[in-house]
Amino acid sequence: MARNPKNTRMCAGCRTRCDKSQLVRVARSADGIKLAMVSDHVEGRSVYICHSLKCLDLASKRKSFARSFKCEIAPELHAVLEEYIKSSDRSDNA
Ligand SMILES: [Zn+2]
Repeated sequence: MARNPKNTRMCAGCRTRCDKSQLVRVARSADGIKLAMVSDHVEGRSVYICHSLKCLDLASKRKSFARSFKCEIAPELHAVLEEYIKSSDRSDNA
């Protein structure tokens, strides 16, 4: 079929395809939806977004997480992701 490299995923915010390692992963686990490391082995669905607050925002506005996981997303997930992106973003405020 069409070329679809296994290690790229589409950002739920800007919909750009990126290498998995460049993206922030959100996965569903037994205790809910949460931030997961790309290297973690998680059963089930994952949603990826760029390492960018803009994409996090876009994904939230589109309710991409809720849609993908087919459930309500706790508001704290957004906060957790925001913190994570901020804390590991060295491009703006090194
Ligand atoms: Zn993006």
